[in-house]
Amino acid sequence: SKVKVAINGYGTIGKRVADAVTMQDDMEIIGIAKTRPNYEAFVAHDKGYNVYTLADRVDDMKKAGIPAAGSVEDMAAEADIVVDCTPGGVGEKNKALYEKAGVKAIWQGGEDHELAGCSFNAEANYAEALGRDFVRVVSCNTTGLCRVIYPLDQEYGVKKVRVTLMRRSADPNDIKTGPINAIIPNPIKLPSHHGPDVKSIMPHINITSTAVKLSTTLMHVHTLNMELEKDCTSEDVKDLFAKQSRIRFIEQGISSTAEIMELAKDIGRPRGDMWENSVWKDSVTMYEGELYFFQGIHQESIVIPENVDAIRAMMELEKDGAKSIAKTNKAMGL
Ligand code: NAD
Repeated sequence: SKVKVAINGYGTIGKRVADAVTMQDDMEIIGIAKTRPNYEAFVAHDKGYNVYTLADRVDDMKKAGIPAAGSVEDMAAEADIVVDCTPGGVGEKNKALYEKAGVKAIWQGGEDHELAGCSFNAEANYAEALGRDFVRVVSCNTTGLCRVIYPLDQEYGVKKVRVTLMRRSADPNDIKTGPINAIIPNPIKLPSHHGPDVKSIMPHINITSTAVKLSTTLMHVHTLNMELEKDCTSEDVKDLFAKQSRIRFIEQGISSTAEIMELAKDIGRPRGDMWENSVWKDSVTMYEGELYFFQGIHQESIVIPENVDAIRAMMELEKDGAKSIAKTNKAMGL
């Protein structure tokens, strides 16, 4: 029988994880939890997901026209594993609920590493999550960094990483966050925490980061500069990246994140998602012994395949990370 997965928090990440799990043959969605009966709750209901809600809101859901299947506690009791996709900082409060229900849980990058005690990236440390009760799938930025740093470290040894993160300031559906016309160094005190979060997965990596927020909703862009232990050429790095299933080369005249998002729609990706790192091929350059390149990170979707792999590792559906990655990719169409 399939592993029973529940989604707590059906927003940007939660709805995508639900659909990705549904595409797999070894796991299924037994319910999603939503706080309010808004359009997303109705779409979830129409898609056939059982819609759960907070214990004191079950009647509100019913009155609004969604025959709520029950409370989050009821949902947790039905599930083998809960993927917590509530807003950053909220997920922490649900830990006691999961412990009480005796259910495994995955949190997202908005929570601290310590909450789960294991941070996850499918390529870099799949085996660490095998059989674990609690795991945190790292943020979009950290996922994007791990996917390029890990193979480079394996092949050439990474001596030092410097990264500047140019971050989208809001998701496309977010009407409350800005700026709409400014660039914000954020945080101003340096270095930022973003790059070093990679150490929650690869503690030995020497990395510093700076970050700014831009007036856009279309992806983050990273400028990377790396010193490697072994000599290699730009072509060697391109060959290595070409072998990574979750890195896509951006070329053929694509010069912006807007066009990457258009490409994702053109190739028929659900919600226009780009699950892979988008590395501008022509930017990959060895210059005076150091590596430079640009990559785009689709914040709304890059962590979705990683959540599927984390479920597979924690439920021990597959012991071999490479096999899980291949299975997830095939089912999703990566
Ligand atoms: P979101 O605001 O889009 O969705 C969160 C959902 O949780 C909303 O539907 C909200 O109504 C619901 N919710 C709020 N409180 C709840 C509660 N107590 N119980 C159940 N549901 C509740 O947030 P998001 O962007 O999907 O982020 C979720 C997590 O994923 C955060 O940790 C975030 O840091 C992380 N993450 C976000 C992105 C991104 O770019 N959006 C990328 C990677 C990781």
